[in-house]
Amino acid sequence: MFDKILIANRGEIALRVVRACREMGIASVAVHSTADADAMHVRMADEAVCIGPAPSSESYLSFPAIISACEITGAQAIHPGYGFLSENANFVQIVEDHGLTFIGPSAEHIRIMGDKITAKETAKRLGIPVVPGSDGGVPDLETARKVAAEIGYPVIIKATAGGGGRGMKVAKGPEDIDTAFRTARTEAKAAFGNDEVYIEKYLQRPRHIEIQVFGDGKGKAVHLGERDCSLQRRHQKVLEEAPGPCITPEERARIGKICADAVAEINYIGAGTIEFLYEDGEFYFIEMNTRLQVEHPVTEYIFGVDLVREQIRVASGLPMSFGQEDLVINGHAIEARINAEKLPNFAPSPGRITQYHAPGGLGVRMDSALYDGYRIPPYYDSLIGKLIVHGRDRQEALARLNRALAELIVDGVETTIPLFRDLLQDEDIHSGEYSIHWLEKWLARTYGN
Ligand code: ADP
Repeated sequence: MFDKILIANRGEIALRVVRACREMGIASVAVHSTADADAMHVRMADEAVCIGPAPSSESYLSFPAIISACEITGAQAIHPGYGFLSENANFVQIVEDHGLTFIGPSAEHIRIMGDKITAKETAKRLGIPVVPGSDGGVPDLETARKVAAEIGYPVIIKATAGGGGRGMKVAKGPEDIDTAFRTARTEAKAAFGNDEVYIEKYLQRPRHIEIQVFGDGKGKAVHLGERDCSLQRRHQKVLEEAPGPCITPEERARIGKICADAVAEINYIGAGTIEFLYEDGEFYFIEMNTRLQVEHPVTEYIFGVDLVREQIRVASGLPMSFGQEDLVINGHAIEARINAEKLPNFAPSPGRITQYHAPGGLGVRMDSALYDGYRIPPYYDSLIGKLIVHGRDRQEALARLNRALAELIVDGVETTIPLFRDLLQDEDIHSGEYSIHWLEKWLARTYGN
């Protein structure tokens, strides 16, 4: 086992990893930009190293700064959290070239899954059901028109290098295809420096269901059921839950086994998430994330496992501490992502926290790096906390979320807390009947945006 781990991240996820390290008796090293000198992860870790100025390109994304911080502190392994360098295959290669361990999958697996066309081809080869679409990239408009007509409208044009919901355009009919194709390419080029796009059938009212998988890197893998992340705004998740309200135990066992077998076959190591759109009882692969997800706590709650601890264990060469038969679902968990954003337009709202009070009590977990007097810097993502609740069933979890939201106080900046309070008043949330488009329509209705 490692003696010391460096955490190449910030905010709540850095704190999450510090906590796992401490429980395992492993020393933790925080890294931070000058803008984060007073951040909670810096205070909570055993050691901290300043790795550069505020822009993440010069700090949290700087290979030399992070590798040097390992060398200075004697850290043997790097936990990347999510975002930043967590899915950067070149970084993984460099970490390994320096004799350090990357707590995550191999560079090869990250590379395969990072390119959406290769990912889809790999998924198909491994027996995972995929969305009908083009065979690989679509090079020009003429091909786009032909492929779209074959698949049947509506279609969605997506960037091969895509992520974060960018570079995606829907064409409802043949009259839209020219504009959609051109804008998707332009956006992809601007966002990812790569204008390759592909085309898929556009599903009209799917749910977003993702399967958590975990592998030991030696051909053994399990699944930890699904998370339903259908409540999205601009393709970004807002509220997540596990288990999915519409998934039956039989469906879970079937798709879960397909996913676990697929990652076992490629000797995948650590945590991964296979994302699907789900419509009329069918699963359609959209992508695989080769890292810990923001919403991993809902899975931890219902299975009673610590996924970060498990990541660290397998990265150090130890076997997984559970097998498929040990993974039995207990109750229901829901996560609300709290962002420092002003409603109704979700404009970033950085600034000083004048008062912070975290909710508590049975079945409540608050993963946040906030504290009274903390100044949220304007340079990074606006997620300031995750409120996760657990109940014996969905109804109890919803009631608990409502109660916890009433206790939560974040003053000094605008937040998305009122959004969740409003959402919980809606019938559809309680019935669990919604597709990935529901939230945007609700926002338009409720806030007029
Ligand atoms: P990203 O990597 O940018 O997050 P994804 O491929 O995971 O992109 O898709 C993000 C979201 O976009 C999905 O959760 C869904 O809301 C929507 N989406 C993607 N593909 C399709 C599709 N074929 N049909 C309908 N919606 C889609």
